[in-house]
Amino acid sequence: MANIAVIGTGYVGLVSGALLSDFGHSVICVDIDTKKIERLEKGEIPIFEPGLEPIVKNNTYYKRLIFTTDLAKAVKTSEVIFIAVGTPPADDGSADLQYVLAAAKGIAEHMDDYKVIVDKSTVPIGTGQKVKNAIKEVLVTRKVDIPFDVVSNPEFLREGSAVQDFTHPDRVVIGAESEKALNVMKDVYQVLFINETPFVETDIETAEMIKYASNAFLAMKITFINELANVCEEVGANIQKVAKAMGQDGRISPKFLHAGPGYGGSCFPKDTKALAEIARGCGQPMSLMDATVTANERQKLKMVEKIEKELGKDLKGATIAILGVTFKPNTDDMREAPSLVILPALAKKGVKLRISDPQGYKEGSWRFGEIAESITWCNDAYEAVEGSDATVILTEWNHFRTLDFSRYEELGAKKILFDLRNIFKRQQVEEMGFVYHGVGV
Ligand code: NAD
Repeated sequence: MANIAVIGTGYVGLVSGALLSDFGHSVICVDIDTKKIERLEKGEIPIFEPGLEPIVKNNTYYKRLIFTTDLAKAVKTSEVIFIAVGTPPADDGSADLQYVLAAAKGIAEHMDDYKVIVDKSTVPIGTGQKVKNAIKEVLVTRKVDIPFDVVSNPEFLREGSAVQDFTHPDRVVIGAESEKALNVMKDVYQVLFINETPFVETDIETAEMIKYASNAFLAMKITFINELANVCEEVGANIQKVAKAMGQDGRISPKFLHAGPGYGGSCFPKDTKALAEIARGCGQPMSLMDATVTANERQKLKMVEKIEKELGKDLKGATIAILGVTFKPNTDDMREAPSLVILPALAKKGVKLRISDPQGYKEGSWRFGEIAESITWCNDAYEAVEGSDATVILTEWNHFRTLDFSRYEELGAKKILFDLRNIFKRQQVEEMGFVYHGVGV
């Protein structure tokens, strides 16, 4: 079993660290965020990720998983060091590598024997070489010659189902330059290797590209169905039926063909923009990427237009129940969520927003700071709906799928529903006396 360090204890680092320890390895998770580490040391999980807590607790109990802010200790005690820090977008849309390179330099300052340094963050093609150079520079300054390998091992987990995704991946991608590093990685993922999970063994650059290509393609697929949904609305076709029939074609697959208010989250928005920048930077602009980014922004605002069209241009004084603000269900993550565009646009028009989200308050309370006066946070969907002029479903939490429409009269709420995730059937809702608006249905 390997001694592993994971630098960065966010959605990816914490899940990876916890599950690698569950595979039987000794894992030390490092973060510069002292509050986060203090909470983890107390057994508190700083993110909402179903199924993660018992795994962290169990492995912490058996001391296979520990948390620290002490990078030196983590580096010295580990042979394999994962970098799982953030790669947020810079102003021009390219990936900001400052955290990755800071982690790489930190490793170089403390290493004193052979290390396999694994990049798990999503990074532009060529970053593996930059990491290598950053480490070499520090070693030169330290006047030491210590062998190391850099590996690219992009992560494909989805928030909300991260535990299942990490333990049952469609594939594990390993970009390595030496047989030794490749074998170390196979040991790290021995559990998956034995389970016959497909392994893609390749060079670092190809591994880095696989991650961007996958995310960009999925974002493009969502954008395709969203734009097609807008066309369906105009020509009287039903996007759900169209998507279902399209998905029955094995070449297309039914996944990521759900029309909605635009993609969000910590990955698709930044990774599409980063790939567009990478493509431009090497003189091969990808017009599909640029179009995807633009169309996705437009889609969010189209949802505001949809609401205006029904309620009238003058929304001032209207009260709207907002069901869901996180970028998808089963997470507390609101990075680039469509709600961050749609809610401020509504608030600017004078709308009062009554929000219900099972996990949204923690981030939403500060992310919506500028429109706080327009917002009332509610304990559940019915409290949000009370006295409202319309209901908007923005995130398809299971709670909302069982919304009891028969309570609208008692709650003094108008029967106007904007089902922006198409979770209800038009006929079912209209039969209850509602005006129904979905996306492309
Ligand atoms: P995150 O923001 O949740 O976590 C990053 C963590 O790194 C933070 O806790 C931060 O304090 C820490 N950090 C930053 N610099 C550090 C340093 N020098 N030393 C130690 N810790 C440091 O980010 P995330 O969502 O986990 O994403 C991490 C990477 O994984 C990104 O590149 C992202 O694109 C990629 N990724 C994310 C997902 C996802 O669903 N979130 C899925 C696949 C890949």
